[in-house]
Amino acid sequence: MAHSRGVQVREGVTVHKILHDDGKATGIETSKGNVACDRVILACGLWTRELAATAGVSVPLYPAEHVHVRSEKIEGAVPELPVFRDLDNSYYVRPEAGHLLVGAFEPDGIPRPVHEIASAGFAEFPANWEHFAPIRGKAETAIPSLADAGYDRFLNAPESFTPDANFILGETSEMQNLFVAAGFNSQGIIFAPGVGKELAEWVITGRRRSTPRR
Ligand SMILES: Cc1cc2nc3c(=O)[nH]c(=O)nc-3n(C[C@H](O)[C@H](O)[C@H](O)COP(=O)(O)OP(=O)(O)OC[C@H]3O[C@@H](n4cnc5c(N)ncnc54)[C@H](O)[C@@H]3O)c2cc1C
Repeated sequence: MAHSRGVQVREGVTVHKILHDDGKATGIETSKGNVACDRVILACGLWTRELAATAGVSVPLYPAEHVHVRSEKIEGAVPELPVFRDLDNSYYVRPEAGHLLVGAFEPDGIPRPVHEIASAGFAEFPANWEHFAPIRGKAETAIPSLADAGYDRFLNAPESFTPDANFILGETSEMQNLFVAAGFNSQGIIFAPGVGKELAEWVITGRRRSTPRR
């Protein structure tokens, strides 16, 4: 759809900084030359803060380790199972192709400096079962079949988090025509369609389509 409407996607290009003039974004400087444009949208995940800073704009997000583990196959881990969310103990469990995933939204997450994380490809950190042990204990108490089955995957990867756990969306207050869509607090996949639609309308019309409900 985007291609048919004239969008060009350029892969393997690094953006070095935001170009601006008189308080307005005017383009970007990239590894393959400068690109002039009327509006810039920064959607660079956990690297967004550094890129925004090249224009003196503050985007308060920080990277931290984010973890889920996958059980061995469990009979009864059918797709129809609901997502089990234990807010008191900071984890969720959901089915995935005959396995159960146990994911953490832990109060004591491990921060990671952005310079430790390569922006090309998929970054992954080593398994840290010791740090995961309190969550694992709570999950196995609630669902004993997890302990019986054991685990075949520990996924530990960087994600960006924000101080209030809301994502950062819209035109920046410091610079006109510079928009941000970042800081998704591990919900960037589920919210992507709505974020894309809302931000597109914001960019085109200059205002938000809907006011968030309180
Ligand atoms: C273990 C784990 C489980 C998760 N589970 C879920 C889930 O169940 N549901 C859910 O909704 N979300 C989940 N997430 C979170 C989700 O993956 C992220 O929120 C989402 O990928 C963020 O998307 P993004 O586009 O903002 O950033 P990214 O996916 O990080 O994309 C940013 C892109 O910008 C590029 N980039 C960065 N700097 C530059 C530069 N200078 N120049 C050019 N390009 C640049 C990067 O190469 C990258 O391609 C999970 C994350 C983890 C780690």
